[in-house]
Amino acid sequence: MPLDVLETLCDLVRLPSVNPMGRDVSGDEYFEYQVTDYLERLFARLGLAWQRQHIEPRRDNIVARLDGDPLPQDGGAVLMFEAHQDTVPVDGMTIPPWTPTLCEGRIYGRGACDIKGGMACMLAALSRLAEERPAGRPTIVMACSVNEEYGFGGAPRIPELWEDGSGFVPRAPDGVIVAEPTSLDVVVAHKGALRWRCHARGRAAHSSQPQFGDNAIYRMARVLQTLEGYARDVVPTLGQHPLVGLPTLSVGLISGGVSVNTVPDFCSIEIDRRVLPEEDPHEALAHVTSFVARALAHDPLVEHETPYLISSGLSDELSRDFAARLSRTICRHGGAGRCVGVPYGTDAPAFSSRGIPTVVFGPGSIQQAHTADEWVAIDQLQTATEILYEFARGASP
Ligand SMILES: [Zn+2]
Repeated sequence: MPLDVLETLCDLVRLPSVNPMGRDVSGDEYFEYQVTDYLERLFARLGLAWQRQHIEPRRDNIVARLDGDPLPQDGGAVLMFEAHQDTVPVDGMTIPPWTPTLCEGRIYGRGACDIKGGMACMLAALSRLAEERPAGRPTIVMACSVNEEYGFGGAPRIPELWEDGSGFVPRAPDGVIVAEPTSLDVVVAHKGALRWRCHARGRAAHSSQPQFGDNAIYRMARVLQTLEGYARDVVPTLGQHPLVGLPTLSVGLISGGVSVNTVPDFCSIEIDRRVLPEEDPHEALAHVTSFVARALAHDPLVEHETPYLISSGLSDELSRDFAARLSRTICRHGGAGRCVGVPYGTDAPAFSSRGIPTVVFGPGSIQQAHTADEWVAIDQLQTATEILYEFARGASP
């Protein structure tokens, strides 16, 4: 019997895989290992080859393979499904996060929508193909990444599986479908993100004699004014994309000083720059830091750290045919099959940046992802499973 998508989703929701989101935390609910162990048992039961990729303690990507007919070396295609194993934290949830609840055509629970639902659809479609093994099917690679929600840390390692020559994945896939809640639309473009810290230094002094100090907060104020003007007047002129609009820059965090009666010698901010699909994040960074440097006369007491997040965007340039084929399959199942751009980031650039046609697709709406009562509609789970099965079977014209 192929896997039942609802049962599989309920199994996955029962296994917490909370991303600590950079916090120093402890507890069994954190990290993806419970889901990874479950997937390993599942792949074994389905008779698939699988491989783990160790990323960090308690965090392994796991990748399974269903050989195609014909095999890739005989001209067969390679299709990859990708879904992340982690969820966001459960703070403030109004439903039991790890007790899947079926109610009025929905399944509630943390990850039901983002993206254990989409993962369950991929697994159910894969299990059906593993059972039927129809002639003409592509080789299907099911890749389950870690740490998508906080920095996209797992997915960039997946291409090692064909680049290292070990042969587990015989060659680069011809196309990748990344699971995210897209309401059964095909997401073909999104922005990338760049995040980094900027520090201003100074010299501490007693606030009764500030003339002996050098105020780092005042220095940072000049940086901030420069960045505000840059975000307003310069960034919108750096290009635009028909599906995702304009690039942006925003300062989201600030800290500095130790007490009101001390002239601060330190102030830090964190900057978020969203890049267009075709923008190079490294060039975007160089552009803003040199703008700030010029505006502050190359003040050596202002420093930019190396970004802690660099993720390029998803471009629709390479995926047009692949997306159109998926879109036709969706239409045959009653969906609109729209090809759209979205504001959020995904694992997709880990593959599209290597020239592989990559799209994002899945059941559920991004409006329900990360929410206090996260849910996904059961009919969307069933439809997405059918779409993925038919698409992967290679039956689409
Ligand atoms: Zn997600």
